[in-house]
Amino acid sequence: MENKLWIGSHVSFNKTDQLLASVKEAISYQATTFMFYTGAPQNTVRSEIDDFKTIEAMKLMKENGIDIQKVIVHAPYIINLANRKNLDFGISFLIQELERCDQLGMKYLVLHPGSHIGMGIEEGIKNIVDGLNEVLKKYHGNTKILLETMAGKGSEIGSNFQELKMILGGVTYSNRLGICLDTCHLNDAGYDLTDFDKLLEEFDQVIGIDKIGCIHINDSKNEKGSHKDRHENIGFGTIGFAPLLKIIYHQKLENIPKILETPYINGDYPPYKQEIEMIRNQKFDENLIEKIISFYSE
Ligand code: FE
Ligand code: FE
Ligand code: ZN
Repeated sequence: MENKLWIGSHVSFNKTDQLLASVKEAISYQATTFMFYTGAPQNTVRSEIDDFKTIEAMKLMKENGIDIQKVIVHAPYIINLANRKNLDFGISFLIQELERCDQLGMKYLVLHPGSHIGMGIEEGIKNIVDGLNEVLKKYHGNTKILLETMAGKGSEIGSNFQELKMILGGVTYSNRLGICLDTCHLNDAGYDLTDFDKLLEEFDQVIGIDKIGCIHINDSKNEKGSHKDRHENIGFGTIGFAPLLKIIYHQKLENIPKILETPYINGDYPPYKQEIEMIRNQKFDENLIEKIISFYSE
């Protein structure tokens, strides 16, 4: 059987067409998966899910070779489980998001572990563990939480494998947790993506490859170890095309969905259709940006 590349990008989920709009956008990029927020990432306003739209969306996914098991939801970044002050809000909103995932038929919710905001890493990790334990005690649905590897910007927790391991180790039902790798974040956190086999080996030793549920594929605007977290288009940043391609086609990561979160060109044009095409061609196109601009301004 031919191995399929599970690649897609971040897409939008709008109020009127909801998941159907997300699927249509993903198809327009020739993607085989996608990722979305179930509402604005920076606030708690959530429209009620229209099951008729969801059914239509599922049908469209099937017809276009998108496997719903590989589709990813991203939790809003207003949830910060590391901060004790907002823990109750974070817990209840996270449970609500997990329930929305179930209603939409989704299996994975990516979550930023949180920022300790001056309380210290140890205290932050303790709060995250308490928060996740509370969430998983109350929520019994099918959606798995994937903790994302972070760049280490500000007081972000989860910029190294040890911190993520401590979280997984403290959570009672850690079989309902997994990890989402983000290539830009790994680079900015100080990991060397040009020696990915070594990185993966280290990850396997500390956490275990089987825990990886998703990979965010982004180039980075900044040097390794910069702790900046600014994504760049594929092949145009400090990581470069070849190392990213190697990760995308890595045998041990074959069935894992790869999601692009690269920046829009000039803030207007989504780069995903052309980036996905370039990835499938396995050849860097130095004129990609111009191509995208002319595609959308015609
Ligand atoms: Fe993220
Ligand atoms: Fe990411
Ligand atoms: Zn990022």
